[in-house]
Amino acid sequence: MSLSDAIPFLDLKPVYLASREAIDAALLRVAASGWYLLGKELTEFEAAYASYCDVAHCVGVANGLDALHLGLLALGVGPGDEVIVPSNTYIATWLAVSQCGARPVPVEPVELTYNLDTTQIEAAITQRTKAILPVHLYGQPADMDSIRAIAARHGLGVLDDCAQAHAALYKGRRVGSLADLSAWSFYPGKNLGAFGDGGAVTTSDSELDCKVRVLRNYGSRVKYVNEVKGFNSRLDDIQAAVLAAKLRYLDEATAQRRSIAQRYLDGLDGLPLTLPYVPEWADPAWHLFVVRHENRDALQTRLAERGIGTLIHYPVPPHMQAAYAELGYTKGDFPIAERMHAEVLSLPLWPGMTDTQVARVIEAVRAVLEIV
Ligand SMILES: *Cc1c(COP(=O)(O)O)cnc(C)c1O
Repeated sequence: MSLSDAIPFLDLKPVYLASREAIDAALLRVAASGWYLLGKELTEFEAAYASYCDVAHCVGVANGLDALHLGLLALGVGPGDEVIVPSNTYIATWLAVSQCGARPVPVEPVELTYNLDTTQIEAAITQRTKAILPVHLYGQPADMDSIRAIAARHGLGVLDDCAQAHAALYKGRRVGSLADLSAWSFYPGKNLGAFGDGGAVTTSDSELDCKVRVLRNYGSRVKYVNEVKGFNSRLDDIQAAVLAAKLRYLDEATAQRRSIAQRYLDGLDGLPLTLPYVPEWADPAWHLFVVRHENRDALQTRLAERGIGTLIHYPVPPHMQAAYAELGYTKGDFPIAERMHAEVLSLPLWPGMTDTQVARVIEAVRAVLEIV
């Protein structure tokens, strides 16, 4: 096999090339405008993304972690509070809770969907619980109706981590319109990615919208009038302009992700490999195509030998990270999350991936599974 045949885990260039004229024009327009922050480009993107998500408001912020953090602050989460989080997620979900001075309280996922096991949430609720923070992991929507019903019964807020779920649908409704507030990341590798860091909060609640808007800009609504101790967390106009151009291509890009995922589901069917499971109410965004195998590390090595790039999302669960030693968890406390982290492997998937590339990945996985 020649090196040019190698298939990377991810290639972001095709998505740029698909919208190249609009993106290049946007970059030049902002450069020439003489206005770079909290300007017209940001306002226009916020309106377009709110409309895309079927909500009244969108507030652009600096990154996904800030979107989660400011969203939790808007819900009133503070020192001494507890927030329910998945035991299996990217650590940003937990860090946002910690940044509020609150404690992340992990709940295990359902093995089949990798999302919060809603039958386990109520056992984790205490007098201190303030909010539930579900994640639509890998782009598969979490069971939001059940989560909202639990939150309503206990008077809790719901903020969902939508960082991997741009364009996903839950029972035909847009992810991003299903919670009190929804937090987004526009990190370059996300399904809607900027040319650097970016994030947003979507909501249909005007009061929450206003709180996040004030928090992202030094606690100020009117220049030099500071109502609260805020942050500097704005989405640059140049990133907003790029995102607005790419948003017009998001449905097409998502359709391509879905068709690649379907080819994987068909082509890898019947192998000794756990494939993604899609509940009938979910239309996933396919941010990642995650398979599971007991001998994951060998599978990854053998695929690499065949020139197939893969990644692990994620190798170590948050409760086992040194950063969370303070919570005192040990191995075995969250066995489902731990087993997942030991067995999951993400296959290459990006809009613009060719049929030949998809076929080569399927062929390589089939060949490798005969020997691992
Ligand atoms: C990417 C990601 C984040 C953080 O987003 P940044 O923009 O990198 O801060 C949070 N949660 C999840 C699930 C993510 O995948």
